[in-house]
Formats: sequence, structure tokens, C-alpha cells
Amino acid sequence: MLTPGTLHVVATPIGNLGDLSPRALDTLRNVAAICAEDTRHTRQLLSHFGLERPLLALHQHNEDAQAAQLVARLAAGESLALVSDAGTPLVSDPGYRLVSAARAAGIRVSPVPGACAAIAALSVAGLPSDRFVFEGFLPAKSSARRERLSRLASETRTLMFYESAHRIEETLEDMASVFGPARRAVIARELTKLFETVLDGSLAELKARVTADADQRRGEFVVIVEGVGEDADARIAEGQRLYAKLSEHLKPSQAAKLAAELSGAPRKALYGGE
Ligand code: SAM
Repeated sequence: MLTPGTLHVVATPIGNLGDLSPRALDTLRNVAAICAEDTRHTRQLLSHFGLERPLLALHQHNEDAQAAQLVARLAAGESLALVSDAGTPLVSDPGYRLVSAARAAGIRVSPVPGACAAIAALSVAGLPSDRFVFEGFLPAKSSARRERLSRLASETRTLMFYESAHRIEETLEDMASVFGPARRAVIARELTKLFETVLDGSLAELKARVTADADQRRGEFVVIVEGVGEDADARIAEGQRLYAKLSEHLKPSQAAKLAAELSGAPRKALYGGE
């Protein structure tokens, strides 16, 4: 039995349909309607499980407009589900505005957890997983992407990114150039699907691997990059890398000051002058 007037945020599979949980199925079977990112996609998922429920389109272009109406239905006692095309709604997917509006109206919002590509990738990456940062998709344009990566270059926590097939190669190239070619990383491709592949190595090795083999550029990707080390040697190495880049554009003293601030390395270790 579902609690009336609840918005159920339901995770769906990221590939393998066996990952739809029994509770997710039960919830989808019993709600008055399902808000879906792409109704055709969700209809296929439901029909695979022999379900038929009313579907309402909720995507980035209509979410604001739909939220008020959906909150009114919830407030009137109906239970609704929110799903996205794959994985956990709101994680690089629509739903945030609806959840926010529902919460503001005092509606109960309840998760039915399940697959999430970022967490699935982290769980098999073998990189430090006690503290991590999810960055979602990087900008499509290389200049904006490099700029975003530069702001992450001194991050000590593990970094997680989503990437598509047509940009994976350029993104790895930019990461190797901004984070340094030796930084350790993992590419998790097509998780839970037939061609699931998890590759690890330095950014330079991974880029070479993806360039050499067209199959490694197909499908959906999570890229996980190790954070910069917290020990003094690692901070100095990072500071020197930043200093070399920044001094292409700034006076040496300014470049050293900024590189020291960003890396946490002592300024003197980067630049001898005053
Ligand atoms: N909400 C989803 C989740 O919980 O993971 C993510 C949606 S986002 C629009 C889609 C991106 O997630 C893909 O471009 C890819 O980067 C990643 N992704 C989704 N499924 C994947 C899979 N099976 N293997 C690897 N990455 C996947």
C-alpha cells in the first residue's frame, strides 16, 4: 500500500532490466500516474514488465510549467512516481524543480533507490571512494571544458564525470593536459550492459587506448579521476604544474602566488624570486 499524496522518486535500470527492484515495480504499478522524461522510453520499460499506467511528460522544457499542476494533484491525495530514462532521477536528469515544489508545498517525497551510473562506476573503480565529487557533464566546447577542469585541478577528492561517446576522446585529451598525463583515472563504459568495460590507467594511457580502439569510444561513459594527493610532495608537484601554466600568462611572482594558493604548496617551493 502506498501512502496517499506522495511523490515517489523511482530509480530505473541503467542497462540491465534485472536491476529494477521489486519495490520500484510495486510502486510503479500502484501510483495514479508516472512522470517520465521520455514517455515512449518509459512505456517500453513498463510493457517489458507487463505494466500499463498513465504517463505524463516531465522534461527540462516543461518542468516549471508542469510542477504546479502535479503538486495540486499530490495535494489532492494522488500518489505519483517520477522516473527518468535511466538511473536515478535528478542525477544529471530532470526532477529537481518538481521535487523542490513538492517539498515547498509540504508534500511527502519518498525515494525508491536503485541504479545510478556514477555510483556503480565508483563501486568498481578502485580509486579512493571515501570522499568524492560528482561533476556531471563537462561543457561541450573545449575552451569551456578546459576552464572547468582547471578549476578542479587541485581537488583532492575523487572526481566523477558523465561523458558521451562523441566527446570521450577530446575530454580525456583535455583532462590529460589540464590534470597532467600521469593522473590515475578509470573509464566505466556501458555498465550492466553486454559490452561493459572498466579500464584503468593514467590519463595518457586511457586516452591512447580510446584513440587506438574505436570500440572503446562507443556507448555511455563515466570517467573517474583520482584527486590530487594531499601529501607535501604531491602539493609541490601540483603547484609546479600550475606555476608552469600560469606563468605563460602572468608575471612569475603573480603566477607563483596563485599557484601556491590553488595547490597549497609553499610559494617558495615554486618560485625563488621576490
Ligand atoms: N540519472 C542517470 C544516473 O543515475 O546515472 C544519469 C543520466 S545522464 C542523462 C546519462 C549519462 O549517464 C550518460 O551519458 C553516461 O555518462 C552515464 N550513464 C548512464 N548509463 C550508463 C551506463 N550503463 N554505463 C556508463 N555510463 C552510463
